[in-house]
Amino acid sequence: MAPFTVEAVTVELLTLGVRPGGVLLVHTSFHAVRPVEGGPLGLIDALGRALGPAGTLVMPTMTDGETLFDPRSTPSDQMGITAELFWRQSGVVRSTHPGASFAAAGPLAERICAPQPLTPPHGQESPPGRVHEFGGQVLLLGVEHSESTMLHVAESIAGVPYSVLHPCLVDVGGAPQRVMIPETDHCCRGFRRMNEWLVLRGLQREGRVGNASAKLSDAREIVGVAVERLTREPLVFLCPPSEGCDECDEARKSVKSPIELGRP
Ligand SMILES: [Zn+2]
Repeated sequence: MAPFTVEAVTVELLTLGVRPGGVLLVHTSFHAVRPVEGGPLGLIDALGRALGPAGTLVMPTMTDGETLFDPRSTPSDQMGITAELFWRQSGVVRSTHPGASFAAAGPLAERICAPQPLTPPHGQESPPGRVHEFGGQVLLLGVEHSESTMLHVAESIAGVPYSVLHPCLVDVGGAPQRVMIPETDHCCRGFRRMNEWLVLRGLQREGRVGNASAKLSDAREIVGVAVERLTREPLVFLCPPSEGCDECDEARKSVKSPIELGRP
C-alpha cells in the first residue's frame, strides 16, 4: 500500500485530539504505524507539525544499564526505532538518568529533561512526572498501557507498597559503579486495566494513526484515575499470585506486613 503522507498523519493526530502548543509524551511502535512517507522520521515530523512550534514532544529513551550512560551516545533499549531516531536529531534534549532517560524537543524540553533523583526513576521529579505537572497528554501509538511510563508516576504519587532493587551503573567521580536502586517494577501487564477504566469514564480518545490504533489521554486524568484505584487497592497492577508471574511475585514479596511497618 502507498505510504501515509506526513500531512495525512498530521491531520490524523490533530483529529485524534493532540493539542497544538501542548506537551505530548509518545510511546510508539513504528511497526504498527507504518508505512509512513519518510519512515520513522516522517512520523516524528508529523508529531512535530501537529504540536507546532509552541509544543513539546517527549519520548522514552531508556537504556539497558549495561554500560555507563552517555546521553550523547548510548542507544535506547526496546523503546522503538522512532524514539531512537528522535533523540539523535539535532536540537533534541536528552535527560541524564542512567537507565530511565527521556528525550524532548520544544520550549519545555530543558525543563522536562532537567536532572532528576536516581530513584524513583519515574517519580514526580522525572521527565514523565514533569509531563504530568505541565498538564501534558500521553499518546499510545500501536502500544498498550503496559508500555506507559505515566503509570509509574501514578504509583509513585500513590506511594505503592512494593519496590524491587535493580542494578544501575552510575558515574562516581569518573569511575563506573554498580548501585542498587529501588523501583516500582513488575511485568506491567496489569497496567492494561487502565484501558477499561479510562474508556468507562470517557477519558480516552481513540482512533487510527497510519495503520496503528492510537489512544490519547491527559496525563492528569490517567494519574488521577490510577491513583484513585491504587488508594483503594494498592496491588491492583500486580498479576494475581495464581498467574505465576515471577516479576509480580517478586514485587508482592517486597511488600512489608503491617507489623514490619510498625503499624499493627
Ligand atoms: Zn505480572
